[in-house]
Amino acid sequence: MNTTLDPAAYLACPHCDTLHHSKHLAATERARCARCDTLLIAPRARSFIHVIALSFTAMILMAGAIFFPFLKIDAQGFSNASSVFQAAMAFSDGLLLPLSIGVLAMIVGLPAVRFAALIYVLWPLTHGRPAYRHARTVFRLTEEMQPWAMAEIFIIGTAVALVKVAGLAHVSLGPAFWAFCALIIVTALKNSYMSSWTIWDAIATKKPI
Ligand SMILES: [Zn+2]
Repeated sequence: MNTTLDPAAYLACPHCDTLHHSKHLAATERARCARCDTLLIAPRARSFIHVIALSFTAMILMAGAIFFPFLKIDAQGFSNASSVFQAAMAFSDGLLLPLSIGVLAMIVGLPAVRFAALIYVLWPLTHGRPAYRHARTVFRLTEEMQPWAMAEIFIIGTAVALVKVAGLAHVSLGPAFWAFCALIIVTALKNSYMSSWTIWDAIATKKPI
């Protein structure tokens, strides 16, 4: 028996691998995984606008998170405030330069590039136009970069370090810390609106919405 499956007719949940029949939905419908409730298919027009808006918000928050003071430490009459950028550049002399570059790339560079790439891919699709050149490559790279964007891990690491330092000195949090927290919430919201399948489908069909 010769059975050929049309790959476009099936859709595997990115979280639990359950296989579903894929189908184009109406503008108000959305499809979730039957097993783990992950968003699988989102209505195109609204979800793309949401993802673009949240990506813009995230880029603005990111600028604040890098350059505003992150922490202020007071101990024995001495006080020091530092931003993430200054902290990363503190290692920029000599042998530790790769560490500086790595820290900035993981915490700042990759997330910023991902947001910009998403806007590049989704902008023409939202307006019903065909995707820009190389949209496929750009979107595939944003998907591959996801595990390497580590703003959330940075916040958890900082929180753990703060618990240790708080016993030795008076530590106060600067505006950049709150910008990072807001950034994590905005990123999570963006992920909740984003359906990779819908974006791939829109890039492939190039049809107006
Ligand atoms: Zn699932």
